[in-house]
Amino acid sequence: MTDIKKGALLVLNSGSSSVKFTVFQVGDADQKIALYFGGQLDGIGSSAHLKVKTAAKELLADDSWEHLDQGTVPAILPHLLEWIESKLPADLPLIGAGHRVVHGGETFDKPMLITDEIIEKLTSLAPLAPLHQPQNVAAIKALAASRPDLPQVACYDTAFHRTIPAINGTFAIPKEYTDAGVTRYGFHGLSYEYIAYNLRQNKPDLAKGKVVVAHLGSGASLAALQDGVSIDTSMGFSALDGIPMGTRPGSMDPGVLIYLMREHNMDVDDLEKMLYYKCGILGISDISNDMRDIEENQEPGAVLALDIFCQRTAKQIASLAVSLGGIDALVFTAGIGENGPIIRDKVCADLAFMGIKLDAEKNDTRGVELISTEESVPVMVIPTDEEFMIAQHAVNILSA
Ligand code: ADP
Repeated sequence: MTDIKKGALLVLNSGSSSVKFTVFQVGDADQKIALYFGGQLDGIGSSAHLKVKTAAKELLADDSWEHLDQGTVPAILPHLLEWIESKLPADLPLIGAGHRVVHGGETFDKPMLITDEIIEKLTSLAPLAPLHQPQNVAAIKALAASRPDLPQVACYDTAFHRTIPAINGTFAIPKEYTDAGVTRYGFHGLSYEYIAYNLRQNKPDLAKGKVVVAHLGSGASLAALQDGVSIDTSMGFSALDGIPMGTRPGSMDPGVLIYLMREHNMDVDDLEKMLYYKCGILGISDISNDMRDIEENQEPGAVLALDIFCQRTAKQIASLAVSLGGIDALVFTAGIGENGPIIRDKVCADLAFMGIKLDAEKNDTRGVELISTEESVPVMVIPTDEEFMIAQHAVNILSA
């Protein structure tokens, strides 16, 4: 491995109408990766808007981009690239881009330099993640078209979970479908990988142990890590499995889907729309998909949604502790996990029988990492950083 030359690395997470991006400065004397600026271009196709903040959280842009909006992410990306480069000093040229790609299928178990063959393979994986994979690939292609010399690296949400053993990864369905790839892939892998990395850096003894990580965001899943390696996770073949989320149901009786198709005349597209956008916290509460609107709301639907979310999360933690044969630490992360003391409290109250007990004051204090009592299994809040993980992978690959 050689030292990477000093420059800026762009990390992209592209959706259907938004692009989240982060620019890191890399290749300084000590080879550290440092956040430079980051933000989001959203509302693409309706009223595009750019909001960017520096590493010091100062506003760098808060502008309407309607005049540049040609309706799609690939069409607006070259303008974003131009804007980003206009904010980079001459001694900090763009030297590469890292992409968050939702699906790496059965074979891609680590990040890689993107080539034409990789683009082709990623395109062929679209049926495994039809709502996200095409957007990820479209952004890669758009960037390659406007900057053919810029090396691009793909980092997969599924890759970290390729270590899951068959006992946890296999569905109880006919073997021919398992052989055809209908299996547990798991998601949020870059987030779990960051937590494993963070623990290795800061709590090396715990990092070697049995750790359950609860990534609770608008999409939510949990993973069981043994010595920093994923051995089980709550999401499955798709990002619908596991615990209820903002608008997705989590695990449910598949018989319901047969019934809805037969008796409510729902076709595949209707089911897909319902399962991805109308279920979960929104479906139960009939109020909102956002936990901030739910957690202190006394409407019966909101109370029930919160109770279900917390209890299913606790059940999932207990289930992953079975996969691990115990639990040495519990980590909360992502939007709800990092900012929701009420939810952490309710989840952990259900886990008292497993020796988990929160310190109420620490749990209520923002920025405290260890929030459990001294006698308890350690419970921690660790902010995730998927973008950093992608930057780290890209730097490793670009300097190889
Ligand atoms: P994603 O990356 O999956 O879109 P995030 O990890 O950013 O999601 O989490 C977003 C979610 O976090 C929001 O939908 C909201 O429900 C939740 N959230 C953010 N702040 C709080 C808070 N203070 N209390 C409870 N939930 C919060």
